[in-house]
Amino acid sequence: MRRLLRVNLSKKASEADEIPKKICLDYVGGRGFAAKYLYDEVAPGTDPLAPENKLIFSTGPLAGTSAQSMSKWLVATKSPLTGSYTRSYGGGDFGAWLKWAGFELMIIEGKADKPSYIHIKDGQCEIRDASALWGKKVGEVQSLLQKEYGAKARIICVGPAAEKKVLYAAIFTGHRAAGRGGVGTVMASKNLKAIVIEADRKVELVNPQKFKELVKKQVEESKEKIGYGPFKDYGTVMGVDIPGTSHGCFPVKNFREADFEGLSSLSFVNWIPLVQKHSGCYACSLRCGKVRTVLDGPYAGITTEGPHYETLWAFSGPTTCSDIGAITRADQLCWEYGMDSISCGNSIGFAYELFERGILTTEDTGGLVLTYGDPEPMLRLIEKIATREGIGDILADGVKRAAERIGKGSDQYAMHVKGLELPGYEPRALKTLGMSYALSNVGGHHKIGYAGQDIGNPTPREVDPVADEGKGDIIKYNFDYTVAVELVNCCSFATANLELFDLSLIAEMLVAALGEEKFGSEEYLWHVGEKVYNLERCFNSREGFSRKDDTLPKRMYTEPLKGGVRDGEIIRKPDIIIDEFYNEMGWDKNGIPTKETLTRLGLQDMEKDIAKCRM
Ligand code: SF4
Repeated sequence: MRRLLRVNLSKKASEADEIPKKICLDYVGGRGFAAKYLYDEVAPGTDPLAPENKLIFSTGPLAGTSAQSMSKWLVATKSPLTGSYTRSYGGGDFGAWLKWAGFELMIIEGKADKPSYIHIKDGQCEIRDASALWGKKVGEVQSLLQKEYGAKARIICVGPAAEKKVLYAAIFTGHRAAGRGGVGTVMASKNLKAIVIEADRKVELVNPQKFKELVKKQVEESKEKIGYGPFKDYGTVMGVDIPGTSHGCFPVKNFREADFEGLSSLSFVNWIPLVQKHSGCYACSLRCGKVRTVLDGPYAGITTEGPHYETLWAFSGPTTCSDIGAITRADQLCWEYGMDSISCGNSIGFAYELFERGILTTEDTGGLVLTYGDPEPMLRLIEKIATREGIGDILADGVKRAAERIGKGSDQYAMHVKGLELPGYEPRALKTLGMSYALSNVGGHHKIGYAGQDIGNPTPREVDPVADEGKGDIIKYNFDYTVAVELVNCCSFATANLELFDLSLIAEMLVAALGEEKFGSEEYLWHVGEKVYNLERCFNSREGFSRKDDTLPKRMYTEPLKGGVRDGEIIRKPDIIIDEFYNEMGWDKNGIPTKETLTRLGLQDMEKDIAKCRM
C-alpha cells in the first residue's frame, strides 16, 4: 500500500491515506506524484507565502531499499522566488526515513499559529511547539532535536534566513539541502521549523530475491564505469576542472568572463588535503560529500561538509575569490543560516558588478568596499543577506527583485531566468545547457535537464556545444529523461552526469519492488516523464508564464564571453532553438501545450485551464 500523510497546520490536524491506485499507475511516484498533487491542490494566483500554498514532500517508491542512489527526497511548491512551479531535491537519509515511517508523500498545508515542528512516529503525527528552536541556526536545531529523539530520528529543518523571509532559503537535513527556489522560505512561512521522523528500517518488496540480484548488478556495473572512481574519491569539486576550465564554462564576474587569475588554484587536487572523511546519502556508495577542514590561513580549523561544486563556484567565480578557506567559510555560513548557496553567491556577484559600475556605493553597502578578489566583503554580505541587514535586505529578495528595487538600469546585470539565479555553468560556452536554463519550468537550473552532450556524452546523439541551432530535440530528451529517473527520485549524479545505469534497470527494479508490470516498460517511464514535464508546464501556463519568460539574461545575446577556451562565444539565435524545442514538445508558438499534446499524454483534463493561455 502506498500512502500519503496530510498535515494541516492551521487545524492542528493530520490524516494518513492511501494514494489512489489510478494516481500510482499514471504518475509512478516521486516527481510524478508531487506534480500531480501540486497542480490539483494549489490554485492559480496563490501567494507562495500564504497558508494556501502547499509543501509537497515526496520520497521515491524505491527509497529505503538497497537500490543505489534512489533515496533522495523532493519538495515541490509554488516558488516565492519565481512564482512558478519548483521542485528541489535533498539528500542524506530523510527520504529513507519518510518511507520507513510509512509514507511516500507528505503534504503540508495551512499555517501554524506559533512556531511549530512536526513529529512522526509509528504512523502517528503530532504538531509540537518549536518556540525554543525559532531563531536558531540549522546545526543547533539539528543537535537539539537529535539529542531529544536519539539516533533513530532523522530531521529536516530551516534556519534563521527562512524566518527572515530570504526568498532563497533552503531546507536542510544534516548538511544536505533541498536548496533551490525558496522551499525553505515557504516552510518558515507556515511557522514550521522542522520535521522529525522516528522510524525503524522497514522494507517490503514484492520480489526480494529478484530485487537483490538487480541491486548486485547495479553495483557491479556502476563500479566499472569510468566516472565512478574519481567522483567517489574527489566529489563534485572536480567540476572546476571538468567541465569548468576544460570547456571554458566557469562563470566569472557575474557571467562576464570565464577565467581569472587564481582559478587554477581551485582545482580539485587542491581540495584533497582538506578531506577528513567521505559522506553520502542513504544507500549510495558514491558518497560524494566530503567533510573538510581548512588547514591554514585566516580560516584555519573551519570544518564543514562541503563545499560541493556549485557552492565552490558561487563563492569564487562571482567575486574572483580564490581563497579555499574563505570559500569553505562561505559554505558553512550558508548552511548555518539555511540558504541556497547558488542564489546567494549569484546575488553577491550582482552586487559586486553594480559596485564596480558605481550603481552601488559604500553608502548603499554600509561601508563595505566590494573589491574583486577580497573575500571579507563577500562573507559579510552573506550575513547581511541572512539577517536582512542594510543592502542584505535588498539582495535577500534575489537579483530580479533587487534590480527592481535598485533601478538605475541594474536589471541588465541581474543573471536569472524567471527569477531564479543562474548556476555555475556559462550558457554561452555550453549552449544546450544554456538554453535549457531559459526553457526550464523552474528557471535557471542545471539539473532540470542537465546537458551532458555539451561535454561529450553521445547519447542520444553527439552535439556541438556552441552551435546556434539543432538543439531542441536534445533539450526535450534531457527534460523528459530527468523526470523519468526522478519518478523514483534517483540522483542525477548517478544518471545524467555519470551514466552509471539506465532507465531499463530502474524499470526492472520497480517491477521487483512493486509488482506492477506496467512500470517494467522503459517506454512507459519515458511517457510518464514527458507527461509530468507537461503537467508542470501547465501549472506555469495557468500562472501566466509563456514564451516571454523563456529567455536568458540579455548579456548572453549581446556580450561575447571573455576568456577561457570559449572566448568570444555568444548566443546568436535563441528563437530558432526555442521554436525547435516547442515543436518537439508539441507546444504552440507561445510555449503552451496544444490540445493534441495534452490528449496524447492523458492530460486532457487540463485543457479547460490551458486553452485561454494559447495565442
Ligand atoms: S551521488 Fe552524492 S548526492 Fe547523489 S545520492 Fe550519492 S551521495 Fe547522494
